Amino acid sequence: MKLDLRKIYRFEPISRQPDGSLPKGGDVYYECGGCKDVVSSVSHIASACACGNLTGGGGKTEIKAPDQVTPLRGKLK
Ligand SMILES: [Zn+2]
Repeated sequence: MKLDLRKIYRFEPISRQPDGSLPKGGDVYYECGGCKDVVSSVSHIASACACGNLTGGGGKTEIKAPDQVTPLRGKLK
């Protein structure tokens, strides 16, 4: 099942952590640079981007290629 978060949230890019790692939190989302899908950084439901770079579930999100991911802050529309 595919959930299009862009229909629900307005996203704006945010900075990486000072050490270059990706921030995470309840209002932080990751945009995959490959397929442009958006996945929550702390996904509680199983979700994945189309190309498989991002795989979420159980409150965390696995990233195969972090350098190709843009962190976003999501606000409800
Ligand atoms: Zn992807």
